[in-house]
Amino acid sequence: MSPTLHVLRDAPLRARNTFGVEARAAWLGVVDDARALPEALARLPGDQAPLVLGGGSNILFVDDPGMPVLALAGTGIHVLSEDTERVHLRVDAGANWHGFVMDSLARGLCGLENLALIPGTVGAAPIQNIGAYGVEVREFVHAVEAFEPANGEFHRLSPAQCAFAYRDSVFKRERDRYIVTAVEFVLPRRAAPRIGYAGIGEELAAMGVATPDARDVATAVIAIRQRKLPDPAVIGNAGSFFKNPIVPAAQANALKAAHDALPMFPGNDADSRKLSAAWLIDACGWKGHRDPLGSGDAGIAASHALVLVNHGKATGRELFDLARRVADSVHERFGVALEPEPRIIGADWPAAAT
Ligand SMILES: Cc1cc2nc3c(=O)[nH]c(=O)nc-3n(C[C@H](O)[C@H](O)[C@H](O)COP(=O)(O)OP(=O)(O)OC[C@H]3O[C@@H](n4cnc5c(N)ncnc54)[C@H](O)[C@@H]3O)c2cc1C
Repeated sequence: MSPTLHVLRDAPLRARNTFGVEARAAWLGVVDDARALPEALARLPGDQAPLVLGGGSNILFVDDPGMPVLALAGTGIHVLSEDTERVHLRVDAGANWHGFVMDSLARGLCGLENLALIPGTVGAAPIQNIGAYGVEVREFVHAVEAFEPANGEFHRLSPAQCAFAYRDSVFKRERDRYIVTAVEFVLPRRAAPRIGYAGIGEELAAMGVATPDARDVATAVIAIRQRKLPDPAVIGNAGSFFKNPIVPAAQANALKAAHDALPMFPGNDADSRKLSAAWLIDACGWKGHRDPLGSGDAGIAASHALVLVNHGKATGRELFDLARRVADSVHERFGVALEPEPRIIGADWPAAAT
């Protein structure tokens, strides 16, 4: 069967973004096989680069996208090679991330258990190098397969070419250059579980598990996430809305001297430190805030200061404006600029003030 492209006009996007905000795509192309991408690109209206939309769990629509929207629907998981130590898999971009994590665990493979229950697609995982509980996806990415619309070429990028960094990669820095079509992973059959981070050990102890395997760790991570993060099916959100800011070490040390409880982590190098955005936002009193403006449905989660939430009818604009006020208050009090983690469509996040 030849690969196909399905085109929808004036398509509603509310069910395609986890904030659950209203937005419409004038042109939405659903590609069921990456081989249809050249045809899809040839049929795009106008000359704007398309917005590739996965699960919509890291995107805020402040307005309707002014560009055509593409969704990749392929969900295949294929074993390319295996030996007694590890398995090399290729996963289509449209596959559900959590579904793939659980599939890998069911095959007896390790590595991705700390990344369980992150929403979204496999194709989006390398975009911001998803990470949680002390693990980043880059550790297991063998190659990223991508289509480059500008020259119509298919590529296979090595991890070095992907230039992964904290919540960053070449795909985020050179936005719209590549459409990720599949991700190759190499997963070990055996690996020491990583349980030193953020309550995993305590959760396992509470589960009565003394010598955890990868599946036990996934169960613990899922339980912690379900307690801490609002379920987007119930309350619209995109997980952490702000990245943890990386600041000069001198600034971090001065802040730490003034605020002993401020969590501080290594930065990109010896001269920088990563701060906890959640702590800074909480210190400004935003946790659990529900905005009286507009619909009254924009807010900050009571369970986690980093999570911007839509209690029902908030618009993308209301959520954006609230996020700006949160960032402004942190900047005013601590002199630290916060940057959003999700992609924002229809508004510009002002460059950090120096
Ligand atoms: C409750 C909740 C918890 C979360 N927890 C975490 C977490 O712990 N760690 C973490 O890192 N993230 C987390 N996230 C954010 C989000 O789930 C991830 O960033 C995820 O990888 C986004 O996948 P998506 O398919 O929904 O991407 P989308 O939101 O659809 O897209 C995100 C960006 O990637 C681009 N993109 C998507 N697919 C492709 C593709 N195939 N090719 C090129 N570009 C593409 C889009 O254009 C956009 O710029 C969380 C989100 C929620 C709602």
